[in-house]
Amino acid sequence: MEKIGIVGGGLAGSLIAVYLAKRGFEVTLYEKRPDMRLNRISAGRSINLALSERGINALRKVGLDKQVLETGIPMSGRMMHRVDGERSYQPYGKEGQAIYSVSRGLLNVKLLELADEMDNIKIVFDSDCVGANLKTGEVRLKGKDGNTFTDTFDYVIGSDGAFSAIRQEMQGRSMFNYSQTYLEHGYKELTIPAGPGNTFLLEKNCLHIWPRESFMLIALPNLDGSFTCTLFFQMNGPLSFESIDNTEKLDAFFDQYFADAKPLFEDLHGDFFNNPTGTLCTIRCYPWSSGKMTLVGDAAHAVVPFYGQGMNCSFEDCVVFDEMFDKFYPDWEQLFEAYEKSRKPNADAIADLALQNFVEMRDLVADEDFLHFKKVEHELTELYPGKFKSQYELVTFTNEPYSYAREQGARNSELVKKIIRDNLENKLNDSEFMDTLFSEYIK
Ligand SMILES: Cc1cc2nc3c(=O)[nH]c(=O)nc-3n(C[C@H](O)[C@H](O)[C@H](O)COP(=O)(O)OP(=O)(O)OC[C@H]3O[C@@H](n4cnc5c(N)ncnc54)[C@H](O)[C@@H]3O)c2cc1C
Repeated sequence: MEKIGIVGGGLAGSLIAVYLAKRGFEVTLYEKRPDMRLNRISAGRSINLALSERGINALRKVGLDKQVLETGIPMSGRMMHRVDGERSYQPYGKEGQAIYSVSRGLLNVKLLELADEMDNIKIVFDSDCVGANLKTGEVRLKGKDGNTFTDTFDYVIGSDGAFSAIRQEMQGRSMFNYSQTYLEHGYKELTIPAGPGNTFLLEKNCLHIWPRESFMLIALPNLDGSFTCTLFFQMNGPLSFESIDNTEKLDAFFDQYFADAKPLFEDLHGDFFNNPTGTLCTIRCYPWSSGKMTLVGDAAHAVVPFYGQGMNCSFEDCVVFDEMFDKFYPDWEQLFEAYEKSRKPNADAIADLALQNFVEMRDLVADEDFLHFKKVEHELTELYPGKFKSQYELVTFTNEPYSYAREQGARNSELVKKIIRDNLENKLNDSEFMDTLFSEYIK
């Protein structure tokens, strides 16, 4: 069988290696960083991630779902913190539905361990891809000793993240579309430590949000009782990461906007001034394949993190790619084409939804009209679970295509607006009446 090279052993790369090895291919996985199992290094950016149905589904197919969920903390809704310290809770879905806060490092380690157990996967760490020949399948790598070497494969998967070396090769070809758009906002991680006896200083089973219109702070729980907080904030300008350049300004900023959270930090000054400031970027490109190589995960579609779907979408790429073997193998050209055609509209949809959700999270979640809208929407999901699914539910708790979630979400929005505008809230329990409305708005 064909020899497959995988460049990038992050979340998508280590999962797709397992999928391909299960199909019997000889797989070599090259990863730039040292073996994280030995070094226990954090896998780079955010420490914890929200895992939801699409990601769980992808892990289920390799038997890792239960193990991973055991290490995750279910978050059943958003807890909003107003400036005056008042809190309000919005469930994400129906009773029993939750997204899971999981450790990025632990998840990556579990995937690498599973890959390592398979005889037909070879993992090579400390190998930085510095170039590739898309036509011949040759990959050029720089090893730990600084020397460059090459390896040649029948086919190569570029899972080397948002700044992919494999994609850069594709960018050099004609008819390759590429765009990269930065947000004005960057992010910084701050830690709320565990309380005495590993207790949680905030409600454990929630994603906490401090929406402040043009910026926001969020917090996700960790198993040890701590919370990883992320401040999404303007990079430059009068009130920004750039402007807060001393501890007095930082204290004043937190006193004004996050007074209830401030006493919970142990080392706010250290975290803020020592932790790196990350940037946020949407990357779109097409086609995703060229010659013997294709892209999965952030290499093909980096999205901003506000729908908590980048990893989930990347894992779903692996599921769809794997399914294409049943239809097209051994015609790799058709397989690559069918894969990218199927995924591109969905990657674009979640990229758009993630950008929209930033506005919802930082601004609208504190808006009375929006909260009313959400209340009606939630009532519909509770009263008609088989018929009405909110956009959030479609994205987070189902495996329906993201493009469908975006389109149906827009129709839902019209439906809820009509109910509010036409004073139809007293008719929500009238199933006959609602069925007529649903037939117009739910496709
Ligand atoms: C702040 C933040 C919060 C997020 N929160 C969520 C969330 O809650 N839920 C969610 O689903 N997603 C979230 N995401 C998105 C998620 O992190 C990514 O979508 C996901 O990591 C993509 O996986 P990947 O394997 O494609 O890329 P990566 O995880 O970036 O992995 C790429 C791998 O390739 C390696 N590599 C890079 N270059 C080379 C090279 N030249 N040669 C060899 N190896 C190379 C890297 O070392 C890395 O191991 C978040 C992202 C950010 C920035």
